[in-house]
Amino acid sequence: MPTAPAAFKAVIAGGGVAALEGALALRDLAGDRLSITMLAPDPDFVYRPMTVREPFAYGRAQRYSLSDMTKDIGVELREQSFAWVNPAACVAYTDSGEELPYDALLLALGARIHTRYTHAYTIDDRHLDDILHGLLQDVEGGYVKRLAFVIPARMAWQLPVYELALMTAGRAFEMEVALSITIVTPEESPLAIFGSGASEAVSKLLEEAGIKLVTHAYAEVPQWDTVVVHPEDKRLEFDRVVALPELYGPAVRGLPSAEHGFIPIDVHAKVRGVERVYAAGDATDFALKHGGIAAQQADAAAEAIAALAGAPVEPQPFQPTVYGMLLTGRRPRYLRAHVTGGYGFSSEVSEEPLWTPPRKIVAKYLAPYLERFEARCA
Ligand SMILES: Cc1cc2nc3c(=O)[nH]c(=O)nc-3n(C[C@H](O)[C@H](O)[C@H](O)COP(=O)(O)OP(=O)(O)OC[C@H]3O[C@@H](n4cnc5c(N)ncnc54)[C@H](O)[C@@H]3O)c2cc1C
Repeated sequence: MPTAPAAFKAVIAGGGVAALEGALALRDLAGDRLSITMLAPDPDFVYRPMTVREPFAYGRAQRYSLSDMTKDIGVELREQSFAWVNPAACVAYTDSGEELPYDALLLALGARIHTRYTHAYTIDDRHLDDILHGLLQDVEGGYVKRLAFVIPARMAWQLPVYELALMTAGRAFEMEVALSITIVTPEESPLAIFGSGASEAVSKLLEEAGIKLVTHAYAEVPQWDTVVVHPEDKRLEFDRVVALPELYGPAVRGLPSAEHGFIPIDVHAKVRGVERVYAAGDATDFALKHGGIAAQQADAAAEAIAALAGAPVEPQPFQPTVYGMLLTGRRPRYLRAHVTGGYGFSSEVSEEPLWTPPRKIVAKYLAPYLERFEARCA
């Protein structure tokens, strides 16, 4: 006999880490107490951290079919964009005007990438190979001898800058070409968010690779070959400059907005002051943008939503731990720290994996799920 459709409707907007982790967590915690609809305009889930290898000809980052994954998890996929929400009526709207009534809404929309410096190559993982492949060829040909990587004051994800710098230094070494690399960053030490132990280990790695570091630096890039570092107003000259973008939030119509359009959330990932609406990941006002953090927020939201749906779950507040697998061009380094008030403590660093499966994005449900999904598709 066919089972009756679940009365409780969960709607998830997004098709990235937070959305998939949220869907898997909801299925685990609330089973068939709820139906899940996912709104995602792109056909694939892209494993964004691995895009840093694309310019080095390691092949494309993994892409997984959202249609296959959602079918497998028991989620109805609509290949449409979420547009806005009317929280008083508990209705979400798609960009084609379709109405989706919900009992709980999880917004996992990611952040918007904005170029901070017009005279630099901006790291944009949607086409990192196109952006950096030519630059690497110029390094290999000996045409680029002084290269800067710049992190703007409002930091996006810092890890890829260090990975790109280390991998580029490794490539120049292999090709026996002279290359001076400088990282210019507002951080007090490299990857400071991972705590002092990890940061010291990263400093040592950079030193061994001959990479210079300018910390506490607020940079401007007035020309293609110049970086001005404040507060000293020091001018540094380079052949090329690569920079992180700045991130902006999705500025959702119908919801309160924090600075720069991010969605304000509490410790249960509930949107502040709004009932039955949750948000997770890069779209939120949590300062640290990282895949593992996105997953932890999605887990907190899923617990709260499962409890609303009547599952026997005690929602726990989100307690951020940051995990980083730093690609170096040789053996990766595994970094881990708890985060409070924007600082990492209980810092750990190792050449051996500190978690299983040893993936770049550490996510309670999504990481083991991808292992199983890959094994089945192999
Ligand atoms: C180069 C690079 C390297 C990184 N390295 C690491 C790493 O090593 N470890 C780590 O943990 N993190 C890393 N990160 C960060 C990590 O990828 C992000 O923090 C993570 O992807 C955020 O997940 P999210 O679900 O919030 O957003 P996203 O992954 O950006 O997903 C957002 C989703 O929402 C969809 N969407 C957008 N607008 C709409 C709409 N209107 N309606 C419906 N859907 C919409 C998008 O199509 C996408 O599917 C890296 C990021 C980059 C760019």
